[in-house]
Amino acid sequence: MDEKYDCTTCGACCYGKREYVQVFADDAARLGAARTAELVAPAVGEIPASVGRESEPKRFMKMTHGHCIALRTDVPNRFLCAVYEDRPVLCRAFKPGSAPCLEARARMKVLSSAASRR
Ligand code: SF4
Ligand code: SF4
Repeated sequence: MDEKYDCTTCGACCYGKREYVQVFADDAARLGAARTAELVAPAVGEIPASVGRESEPKRFMKMTHGHCIALRTDVPNRFLCAVYEDRPVLCRAFKPGSAPCLEARARMKVLSSAASRR
């Protein structure tokens, strides 16, 4: 990993509002029934069928304190994903240093500096 972008001391892409991390059927299958029941919010609608895909419930990870419920924040300045090996496909798009990563880090910087000014 690029040391400039150490996810374990960042966690920016795990912060967001409600309906932030979408969980598709493949993601739920990877998480399994017990973790899906614990970590995924009730469906908010349905994703219609499309070429090669059946319709499926529209679901998102639960959020708590402004971040995904699976983000462990019990150790100061450490941000670990409790389901890292089985995290949703959208989380995997946040490659350290990628455009979505840089956007999340910039968003977090703005929020942090606003909070520190309060
Ligand atoms: S992918 Fe980027 S935004 Fe997400 S935790 Fe890693 S460094 Fe932070
Ligand atoms: S599932 Fe893991 S990587 Fe994805 S947003 Fe939640 S804590 Fe972050």
